[in-house]
Amino acid sequence: MRRLLLILALTAWGWAQPVSFPDGYPGSAEEIRVTIARAQGRIDRFAQEHGWEALLRPVLYDSCEIFDSGAALLARIRQIHSLPEDVKLPTATVVGALEKRILLFVSPDEFARVVPELAAELNAYEKLMAHEIAHRLHVAILAGDEERMGPRWFYEGFAVVASGQHQGAELGDPEAAMASASYRDFGALVRALMDHVPLEELVRRAGDSDFEARALHVLQRSR
Ligand SMILES: [Zn+2]
Repeated sequence: MRRLLLILALTAWGWAQPVSFPDGYPGSAEEIRVTIARAQGRIDRFAQEHGWEALLRPVLYDSCEIFDSGAALLARIRQIHSLPEDVKLPTATVVGALEKRILLFVSPDEFARVVPELAAELNAYEKLMAHEIAHRLHVAILAGDEERMGPRWFYEGFAVVASGQHQGAELGDPEAAMASASYRDFGALVRALMDHVPLEELVRRAGDSDFEARALHVLQRSR
């Protein structure tokens, strides 16, 4: 009975995940937790729309760490995975990640400095958090097989759509969009494909060798 009460009490109070942030960060740990909860809510709703809600548990996080630079964030990812110095990490802009149930982000100021267009959106920081959670949901849908996430434009576009980033972005030439490095284009590609093919099917097929050619065919036929 006592144990049951203790569990109930813990549930009622909630367990506050540890949050760390750099000196001068313009907010509190509680505000960060609330923003993460909203981000999870976004992905919850997205998952429910597509019948993936049962996969959300592994996507939960144990702690959150915020850094004042992408370099500091990358150094932490290296540490989390015990990667030796000679293992190369992406040198492209890194603003967030979810590694071994640790949410990692750069501060809102750094986010705004690196990707001003994205950071200017309403609820931009919440969407950034949702984007990283969406990547883990994607991996969970594929039962952990990251190799089947498909081309970069597709898995980044998936996270852009799931998190609600870049809404209303126009799709130009699909082939150029696929070859671009623009998350705006990636989101527009996936949203345009979803007008013709259910997202569940796109996710299932994204690892096929002919996926990109077929996607291009669908998009070019509809123009
Ligand atoms: Zn991403």
